[in-house]
Order: sequence, then structure tokens, then C-alpha cells
Amino acid sequence: MTSDTKILLSESELPRNWYNLVPDLPSPPPPVLHPGTLQPVGPDDLAPLFPMALIEQEVTAERYVPIPAEVLEVYRLWRPSPLFRAHRLEKALGTPAKIYYKYEGVSPAGSHKPNTAVPQAFYNAQAGIRRLTTETGAGQWGTALAFAGAQYGLDVEIWQVRASYEQKPYRKMMIETFGGTIHPSPSELTAAGRKILAEHPDSPGSLGIAISEAVEVAAQNPDTNYALGSVLNHVLLHQTIIGEEALLQLAKVGATPDVIVGCTGGGSNFGGLAFPFLREKLAGRMDPVIRAVEPASCPSLTRGVYAYDFGDTAGMTPLMKMHTLGHDFIPDPIHAGGLRYHGMSPLISHVYELGLMEAVAKTQKECFEAGVTFARTEGIIPAPEPTHALAACIEEALRCKESGEEKVILTALCGHGHLDLPAYGRFLAGEMDDHALSQDAVAAAVANLPAVPA
Ligand SMILES: *Cc1c(COP(=O)(O)O)cnc(C)c1O
Repeated sequence: MTSDTKILLSESELPRNWYNLVPDLPSPPPPVLHPGTLQPVGPDDLAPLFPMALIEQEVTAERYVPIPAEVLEVYRLWRPSPLFRAHRLEKALGTPAKIYYKYEGVSPAGSHKPNTAVPQAFYNAQAGIRRLTTETGAGQWGTALAFAGAQYGLDVEIWQVRASYEQKPYRKMMIETFGGTIHPSPSELTAAGRKILAEHPDSPGSLGIAISEAVEVAAQNPDTNYALGSVLNHVLLHQTIIGEEALLQLAKVGATPDVIVGCTGGGSNFGGLAFPFLREKLAGRMDPVIRAVEPASCPSLTRGVYAYDFGDTAGMTPLMKMHTLGHDFIPDPIHAGGLRYHGMSPLISHVYELGLMEAVAKTQKECFEAGVTFARTEGIIPAPEPTHALAACIEEALRCKESGEEKVILTALCGHGHLDLPAYGRFLAGEMDDHALSQDAVAAAVANLPAVPA
């Protein structure tokens, strides 16, 4: 067996900085706007929700942001995470391509989410905050924040999309074990939730609705802040630890990626892996193709519009220019709950507009097929979200088989699927459906965007 099967870094090689892509881009992303005045938001607008340290990171012009010692200490519980070469998958596919995957399932939550949950909890605790509110879809983010809150003595209150709350009871148990409190969303606890329930008593919920509920509670309580698990610049910043480690690991085996593939919900694991490599690309040191993979049921990059929109359903957040399907779009209940968000990180959307990356959409059966192939060869059952990236890796590897190219493919296996086994059960029993999203549905969804003069 070759020695690049599992590439590890020592504790002393753990990166000490997060990387901010913005100063290296040819132009900065458009500003975030206040929904009332339509003027760029300032720190004071965000202060009811976020601690100043995170607001500063959201807009920083520094290329590198030092990781606090108190955060590094918690990161060391699972970081540096391993980089694997998928020898067995390559062999099964008969491809000359080399496939590497950065495995984030070794974290306490089983995904990449603690990479940002931990610093977010740390900065809030440091600012004297007592409680954090948040939304969660499949439950990965809620689990990560509950764990992170426990590290720094914060209460964590979570609104989980009702469809997932009912389908995935183990996430609730995990969150409660870590000390968090969890409610199904929409709930009777907030005005936003009550309004939705009055109109749609059986609403399955959405990430946009759950965000409205969590933001409402944080905005009304001075000792409470809100934490977001994706989309925002500071979240992507924290996730760059993934790509910084992967760069060091690939260097150890002398490999340079030709293709980088990642799944995109709000864009944080994808940006976290890809941005350090994009820095290298912009500096002319390598030239990988960078490819996002989104679900065909929620295709914000490939079929959404690039426009100012709200981050939540009720329209309480600032307006962000992003690829969006419209803030009241409710995607079909696919199993990759973490990819069911109507928008896309403004920074990723901007990078996409600049032509520095590409995007494709995949239907869920093809993704689960890839997930099963991966499990049988590599021995890890992937979360439904990264099966999208794996399906695109396999597609690329099979193209290499046709052409004989020995491309190096890199992806983030951003979580394991141990709490998503019922979805695999449905797939294996032949009970999974692919949902076609009609052009009419897309057009109707984007008809309701807020009016922002150009
Ligand atoms: C939350 C989550 C996602 C989607 O979020 P991104 O911000 O796009 O990374 C993807 N995969 C897993 C395992 C998740 O938990």
C-alpha cells in the first residue's frame, strides 16, 4: 500500500491563522445593505446580534486573522483533520485520477460546523453574552453550536426545521446531551413562527423561517446573540482552516489539485476548502478548476438570480447581494437538509460572478448512489450533503478514465452520515424520489425579491 492513504499533520503543524480571501480578489463583494435605508450596514446595525469581534471579522481587510489560543485549544480535540487518498474508490472506478478527501467527520458534531461554532461561541462569551440562538436544518449546526456553547458556558437555544426535527430525532438527543435547548420551527414562541403557523398550520418549516425565529429572540434580548452556521464572511473565514491544512497535507505528498469539488448549501465547507487554493491560483502558483455542487432541488448558483435578498423568510436580516431563489422559496424535502437554503454566501456568489469558479447541480438519487459506492470502498458513510460532491468527483474521475488524464481531484468529505441512516435505508429500498424543479417554480420564487435600485 502506498503511503499517501492517510496524510496527517502533527499538532504543531496546525495552522495559526484563518485566511480572508477578500483582499486578494480583483474587486470586493458588494456591500450588505440595511433593509430600511438601503445604505450599507455599519457595525451598530449588527451589534444587537453579533459581538464586535465577529462584526470586525465580517468586514476585515486583513489577509490573515490569528486564531485565539482558547480556540486552538478546542480545535485540538479533532484538528488537524486527516486527508485521505481514495485508493479503493479509484480502483473501483478504474480511473487514473487521484482522488483526495479532507475528512471533517472526525469533529464532535461529525461535520465541519464546529470549526466556526467554537470561535463564534468564544467571541460571544468573551463579550459577556449569556445565550446564543440559532437555526438548524438537518441538525449539524445545532449540534456544533450546542457543543461549542458547552465549552465556554453559554446557553444555546435552537430552532430546527420541523421536517428534520421529526425525521431525525437523534440530532435532538445529541443537542440536549451537549446541553442545548431545541424547538421545532415554525414555533409558537416567536411572532415570525406564529405568523407562518396561522397561514400554514402544517408548515414543514425552512431554514429561512428558523433564522427569522432565532434572530427575533436574539434581537429582543440584550444578553442574547444570534449565531449563523454558514453564508456570512466570518463563517467562511473560520472554515478556511480546512483548506489551509489540506494545502500542507498535499504538499507532503507532492500533489497539486487540478480539480477542487465541494457541496454548497450556504457555501461554508466549500469556501473553507477552496479559498486557500484560490489564493494560490490568483497568485499563479497553481491552476485548479474549482467546482461547487448543489442539489437540483435548491439550485441557487445554477438557476437562481444574482440580486439583493433577505437571508431569512420574514425579511428581518440585512439585504445581501447573492445568488438566490428568493427568501420565501421552500425547497422540496430532500435528505440533504444542510443544502436546503434559498441563498448562497455573498462572497461565494461574488467569486462565481468573477468567473473564478463553476457550479453544477445534482439530483439526490445520483448522489446517494455515489455515497453508497464511497461507503463500500472507503468505509465511511458520508452525510447526504457531501454525497453531492462525491457524485461530481466520481463524474470527473470517470471522465479521466475516458481521456486517460491523471488529474488530482480534491474534495471535502464534510461530514459523516451516521445520523442520516434512514435516508440510506430509503435509498437502498428504492423508495427515494428525485424532485424536478420547474422553471415556473423558479420564476415564481424570484418574483418576490425586495426592490433595490441598482
Ligand atoms: C451544514 C452542512 C452543509 C451545508 O453547509 P455549507 O455552509 O454549504 O457547508 C454541508 N454538509 C454538511 C455535513 C453540513 O453539516
